[in-house]
Amino acid sequence: MNTFLLEIVTPDHSAYSNEVNGVSVRGIEGELGILPGHIPFITPLQVAPVRIKIGNEYTSIAVSGGFVEVRKDKVVILAESAELETDIDIERAIAAKERAERRIVAVKSNQADIDFKRAELSLKKAMNRIDVHSKK
Ligand code: ATP
Repeated sequence: MNTFLLEIVTPDHSAYSNEVNGVSVRGIEGELGILPGHIPFITPLQVAPVRIKIGNEYTSIAVSGGFVEVRKDKVVILAESAELETDIDIERAIAAKERAERRIVAVKSNQADIDFKRAELSLKKAMNRIDVHSKK
């Protein structure tokens, strides 16, 4: 068979479980395409869309960090959060992006003692959700 089982799991739920033809993820060193029969490995992921191919159809899922583990029998993505295109609340993501941008500006101009890295991560998560939602 030219497919493999892909599971995406977060601390509170199973976000995705399906037979797929391929998946593309963004590892810490760049984009990784995983096809059936890939050798086993494990690597951390960036905050980025996961692109799934089933037949001629593509689906995107917004994944916030975590790991991908390619096993002999399946591929598992463990992430802090994962949302399908159709589950993304776009208003919420835009509000989160604007909040994060305001925080970053405040940190840069020393007007507030707010953690820069935290704001930067919030911005990445919001932009990832907006990106995935736009692929709907
Ligand atoms: P916010 O500031 O809007 O709460 P966040 O980046 O802090 O966003 P997370 O901590 O990453 O949110 O996620 C908390 C929970 O909310 C997770 O279950 C995540 O899937 C969900 N979530 C966050 N933002 C969205 C969104 N825009 N649409 C749908 N679900 C979302």
